[in-house]
Amino acid sequence: MAKLSTRAVQAGKNSLNKPRAVTAPIYLSTTYTRNEDGSYDDGFIYSRAGNPNRETLETALADLEGGEVAYAFGSGMAAMVALIQTLAPGDEVIIPDDAYFALTKLMNDVYSRWGIITQRIDMTDIERVEEAINENTRHIWVESPSNPQLKITDIAALAELAKAHDTLLAVDNTWPTPVLQNPIALGADAVIHSSSKYLGGHSDVLSGGLVLAKKGELSERIQHIQELTGGVPSPFDCWLICRGLQTLPVRVREQSGSAMKLATWFEDHPKIERVLYPGLTSHPGYEVAKKQMHSGAGGMLSILLKENVNKILEISHQLRYFTTATSLGGVESLIEHRKSIEGDHSSTPENLLRISVGLEDVDDLIADWSRVLK
Ligand SMILES: *Cc1c(COP(=O)(O)O)cnc(C)c1O
Repeated sequence: MAKLSTRAVQAGKNSLNKPRAVTAPIYLSTTYTRNEDGSYDDGFIYSRAGNPNRETLETALADLEGGEVAYAFGSGMAAMVALIQTLAPGDEVIIPDDAYFALTKLMNDVYSRWGIITQRIDMTDIERVEEAINENTRHIWVESPSNPQLKITDIAALAELAKAHDTLLAVDNTWPTPVLQNPIALGADAVIHSSSKYLGGHSDVLSGGLVLAKKGELSERIQHIQELTGGVPSPFDCWLICRGLQTLPVRVREQSGSAMKLATWFEDHPKIERVLYPGLTSHPGYEVAKKQMHSGAGGMLSILLKENVNKILEISHQLRYFTTATSLGGVESLIEHRKSIEGDHSSTPENLLRISVGLEDVDDLIADWSRVLK
């Protein structure tokens, strides 16, 4: 099999392309011509059920994550919802205690009313996950590194546990991407993506993906849910994600390398209380991260500053190359004070800033910080 970068470039081609354009065309048509015998030449009928650009994207996602099949959605949240909708009232899901904020809200505000029971557990402690499993547990969901505290969970250990208890293990691989971490190779059954982040890579498209290790009963149900609920990405959005995938390996390796340099620089700075980055030996998850993130610790880090909130907000607005905005994974560096986004009941420390490292030269990024921390 060709290497990841080669497959990433190949991934954006599609097979219907008759004039053999080097860059894939976009098929905007919602409907396809039917033959006299009722058949369709290329299998496409109506674009909620299938579209050439979406098929290309889904094939690419499955390929890069090493799964047998993938489904694309209109957002990362829509991908998560499709997986949850395979459950029935009374079923239980275990999610991380610091799960992506909207996932916690989704389970509390929407699915609790549908009879889905959610347990929030600190997944860095596998024993606590094991204690939480009971006969109704259907899914275990993991995010590693987690958001915004960069906690690391041992995916292979959790996969063994999930298998022993006949539950599905789903890993949100939005932050590390398949460039740095391959959950299916570590034993996971499903991989979730917010393609709006690194996969798209330019902060201009909202999309999500769900990759399954195996084709079978579950994949058929997901496909059915995708087709019936219609939370699918537009052909142009699929095309944009495919374009993003072609540069994903170079972008992520560069961003991860810059994040490592920035984290190391922060660690020595007297105004920084703590750096949360799994590439640092001081991080409690360093050993596990080294084992499961094979080519870098990622482009995301959080810092805790020795300043009060007002001063921290002031500093973050003085930076020249870091835009104060939510989201992550784009070519531009972003910075966010998570506590003020998450609200009073969030457990995120008040002096924490989350940083998404972009593709600017890391020397300029360090100089920018050096200036505002003077
Ligand atoms: C952004 C994000 C999501 C949600 O994805 P959307 O595309 O915004 O719906 C889920 N998980 C993680 C880790 C994210 O960063």
